[in-house]
Amino acid sequence: MKKDNKILMSDPVVSSTHVRPSQEPFVNLIHFDRDIVVDPSLSNRSRYFSCVRFSVAEKLSTAKALLPKGVRFLVKEGYRPLHIQQLAFERALQRAKKSFPNEDLNYWLAEASKYVAPPDVAPHPTGGAIDLTLIDANGNELDLGTQYDAIPQETNYATFFDATNISKQAMQNRQMLAYALQSVGFVNYFTEWWHWSYGDKYWAVMTNADWAVYPPVSEQELVDLL
Ligand SMILES: [Zn+2]
Repeated sequence: MKKDNKILMSDPVVSSTHVRPSQEPFVNLIHFDRDIVVDPSLSNRSRYFSCVRFSVAEKLSTAKALLPKGVRFLVKEGYRPLHIQQLAFERALQRAKKSFPNEDLNYWLAEASKYVAPPDVAPHPTGGAIDLTLIDANGNELDLGTQYDAIPQETNYATFFDATNISKQAMQNRQMLAYALQSVGFVNYFTEWWHWSYGDKYWAVMTNADWAVYPPVSEQELVDLL
């Protein structure tokens, strides 16, 4: 049975999920598959920003065949070091406090986690998550309704996968993305159409898996697994 797809990363059900750590290697998507394009914009965050677990890369390779001819994945970010995750979450939390000064900490944590995952459950530091969009044959990004990485609260929540305040074309493009990625076992985070993962705690919750397989790793641990 599938879980309600509106579970936030800040939900205790995510943090309480067990991990049976896999030593699965990392690969760099830049060299993995010539049809999978990597956007270098976030290379300043980590020199390993385009690295993911081997299974994630393989699944992406399989999923590309399920896209219409001429459409390709454009990967924005894979691995993200924990210290960057921590900073980003702190910023999102401050923003939530400012926007909703009369609410309490639980409310702020929930609001912040619509945009950045709390560090203890964060998918990107595990190598199991990818942020990605679609490009056409000329390399132009398709319309997915909002900018990749737009802040949900600043787009009237149009970043939510199921948003209806976007164009018909954008909705169709989101379905195209979802069809390919869900078919190979990725799970979307419902507040961000661009965020997909496999093997992390959120994935385990959404697929009713008994445990997650990817723990967060430091850059040094990643290098040892490359
Ligand atoms: Zn993401």
